[in-house]
Amino acid sequence: MNDCLFCKMASGAIPVKKVYEDDELFAIEDINPVAPLHMLIIPKKHLANALALAPEDDRIIGAIHRVAAKLARERGMDEEGFRLVNNTNAGAGQSVFHIHFHLLAGRNLGWPPG
Ligand code: C5P
Repeated sequence: MNDCLFCKMASGAIPVKKVYEDDELFAIEDINPVAPLHMLIIPKKHLANALALAPEDDRIIGAIHRVAAKLARERGMDEEGFRLVNNTNAGAGQSVFHIHFHLLAGRNLGWPPG
């Protein structure tokens, strides 16, 4: 996807500090954090959002949850708890149309979310 911001980050065309990377995923600090810990966990494969997922993507989604737990644990945010959020489509707050999960922690996270 030539015009996709997160594809460009994945390929290195746009340099960004990756706090985690493997063959399929990377994670970055959100540029506009809404919690003391706010990272984005992003598959390298271009998928617009959850509506584009196919059965072969199930493994990637599982890996995202595992990486979220690892990152939260590394930063000492596992005991107090963390939230992993995916916004699908504009009505739910999606602004970048390459699937990603927000890892949030470090403050009291209200429920239900707004
Ligand atoms: O769920 P949504 O699509 O709105 O999330 C996109 C996220 O990407 C936002 O939290 C925004 O701050 C983040 N972002 C970023 N770096 C950019 C552009 C957007 O961290 N260069």
